[in-house]
Amino acid sequence: MVYIVGNSFCGSTLLGFLLSAHPDIIYLGELKIKTWLKERSCSCGHSLDTCPFYSDYFSEFNTTKKSLFADVRPRSVISLLFRRDKIISKNAIVKMESFYHSITEHVLQMYPNAKYIVDTSKSIWMLNGWLHTSVDKDIKIIWLTRHLQPSMASFTKRGFKFYHSLLSILVNNMLTKYYLKWNKLNYLKLDYTRFYSEYEEIAKSTSAFLNIPIPSAYQNHHNHHVISGNSNTKKEFTGQFKGFHNDEEWKSLLTKNQKRILSWFE
Ligand SMILES: [Zn+2]
Repeated sequence: MVYIVGNSFCGSTLLGFLLSAHPDIIYLGELKIKTWLKERSCSCGHSLDTCPFYSDYFSEFNTTKKSLFADVRPRSVISLLFRRDKIISKNAIVKMESFYHSITEHVLQMYPNAKYIVDTSKSIWMLNGWLHTSVDKDIKIIWLTRHLQPSMASFTKRGFKFYHSLLSILVNNMLTKYYLKWNKLNYLKLDYTRFYSEYEEIAKSTSAFLNIPIPSAYQNHHNHHVISGNSNTKKEFTGQFKGFHNDEEWKSLLTKNQKRILSWFE
């Protein structure tokens, strides 16, 4: 499994699709999403009834997942910084393991040569859950970062309050940093801001980290079934990916004052 950690709107959906440029890397979106809550369409271009991955699997996928959230997600994420082994119950581990087996089995049925499944859930609690299953030794963690100003612009653009968003980004950065450090986890750090100008370098370092060659130009192998994440990005990969956007929209979205406040934290 490739697990991506980071803040909301850090570009994880884009990275998930880019990794699936290798035909043996299967991208399934954010596995933590409550997929049973609303009608969804799949990035492969099909509705859920006709999608070759979900059509006869969707109800099993949802049932195995539904039962694990309450047990795997701690009441306070801060508790993830302490007592890693005690915050997840034996019952939760069993459920997480059966979800893992259900997914891998189904992926291998459809893609017998699959090497990786990508989960862009981003949350540390979900990573903590995976680390308690048998995927523990084979999990590859990518920490995707994005500069504070464009990240904040993405939050405010969607109506989130400025200071609330800032606090959630800063707390999540701290949580991620110490969780990875104190659990001595190996990870690759990627900067979303560099994708536009240096994707070839990004693809190279990711290939070395995952030990599989990631093409630096995107090709669609119909190996993504994403029903969550950024809907614009999803749409783009259902059709034809037209290349990277320069991450500059924040310049017109943030006020002068907001930019100044954010510059104190960079
Ligand atoms: Zn699909």
